[in-house]
Amino acid sequence: MALFLDQYADIFALRHALDSKQISVKELTHAVLGDIKQTVSLNAFVDVQPELSLAQAEIAEQSLARGQAGALTGIPLAHKDIFVTEGWRTTAGSRMLANYRSPFDATVVQALLKAQTVSLGKLSCDEFAMGSGNEHAATGPVRNPWDHEVVPGGSSGGSAAAVAAGLILGATGTDTGGSVRQPAALSGICGIKPTYGVASRFGMIAYASSLDQAGVMARSAADLALLLDAISGFDPRDATSIETCRGVANAPGRILSDYASFNDTKNTQPLAGLRIGVPTEYFGDGLNNNVAQAVEQALVVLESLGAKRVSISLPNTALSIPAYYVIAPAEASSNLARYDAVRYGHRTENYTDLADMSARSRTEGFGEEVRKRIMIGTYVLSHGYYDAYYLQAQRVRRLIAQDFQRAFADQCDVIMGPVTPTVAPAIGSLSTDPTAEWLGDIYTLSVNLAGLPGLSIPCGFAPGHRSQPLPVGLQMIGNYFDEGRLLAVAHQFQLATDWHQRRPGAST
Ligand code: GLN
Repeated sequence: MALFLDQYADIFALRHALDSKQISVKELTHAVLGDIKQTVSLNAFVDVQPELSLAQAEIAEQSLARGQAGALTGIPLAHKDIFVTEGWRTTAGSRMLANYRSPFDATVVQALLKAQTVSLGKLSCDEFAMGSGNEHAATGPVRNPWDHEVVPGGSSGGSAAAVAAGLILGATGTDTGGSVRQPAALSGICGIKPTYGVASRFGMIAYASSLDQAGVMARSAADLALLLDAISGFDPRDATSIETCRGVANAPGRILSDYASFNDTKNTQPLAGLRIGVPTEYFGDGLNNNVAQAVEQALVVLESLGAKRVSISLPNTALSIPAYYVIAPAEASSNLARYDAVRYGHRTENYTDLADMSARSRTEGFGEEVRKRIMIGTYVLSHGYYDAYYLQAQRVRRLIAQDFQRAFADQCDVIMGPVTPTVAPAIGSLSTDPTAEWLGDIYTLSVNLAGLPGLSIPCGFAPGHRSQPLPVGLQMIGNYFDEGRLLAVAHQFQLATDWHQRRPGAST
């Protein structure tokens, strides 16, 4: 089925159509709302409120008419349902918050509103962002536009599916252990998680606060640069928001100017001098051969653009899974204690006393994966186990961060490898093995444990469920505050290749 936005390659193309009055923001918004209605089988959107979207379209329209349009004025996007939004419901994919309405917008949502984007509503995610397939959402699984029988990835699966399908040109996501990069990879789009602290966590429903970071998803690296620039910046309401970096204020404009400064060469070797570190640990057991091949071919393209490949070692990579799955549940068990049926969320009908009310409400309100993690988290933080598990995991976290710093100190400028060991698995296939889903996070978790920026762009296809070709992602990891360089390198790759332009439905 042809969708309205199919005619625009990216945000820049739509910008041109809006600026030259080929289409009005309102017409555009109506068309997109119509397409969202036509594609409900994807199950990507969890709340759509046409009158709210059209009101934002009206404001964008007026700015355009006054000649005050910015790069994102009128651009249709939508938000992962983990960001609180005024107007649209905010459920975090949970029964616990089934009817929750926030009295305010998250800082990231506010920033994109200020940039005059038009929000089409809220996008499905795994419950409290816990998952890798968007199968743990109270509203059921989201379908991957490339093959409706496979997952779009998670936990920002609704965001990935909506962008991949062509319903919107950008979406917000959050990445605690890979949830922007992994669904971007499995759905054939681009996604970036910036350095921890670059985008505000205020109004982002907390999962694991020392790992949670907002990110953006779109069709191209150039579009990501626009979106990331809009959402990044210091926020006094987030205690871990970064005020300055390398002596430069982390202010709006930094990402774009960094991105532009790395992009100023116009020769045939735009990546000359770039050293790409390729960790041997990212190409070991468990990596699907066809995925490995697609990533290898992408590296060859980057070498043809002048980059040099260096083999590096990140020896503690395998420990990222146990360390993450101790630290994240520990923080989650603490963060989710606030859902006590008194202050927020679902309250059971029958109970005997306060403790019973809280226990029953939490059992009814939280899904299985969330309950499992609260139990693990409570266990590893309890007296007698804290040192053995939680503290030990924090020590491993430090080792993982040091692995990266050693590599960046004298071996390479960026690190590259796969995002996921396989292409998107079939819906339901992970539910029989409780740890299979966690093992798939092997290449993304350490980036969050270290707080580094990470990006994922499409780099090919590999046979998946029923041998259908499914998208493969290339991961780029940078040193702290190097998201401008990551985006610039990704942009050069996209000038030389067309993987990011492939669309589901068309022949790959
Ligand atoms: N798959 C990981 C988890 O379930 C990462 C999720 C995320 O980044 N939000 O914890």
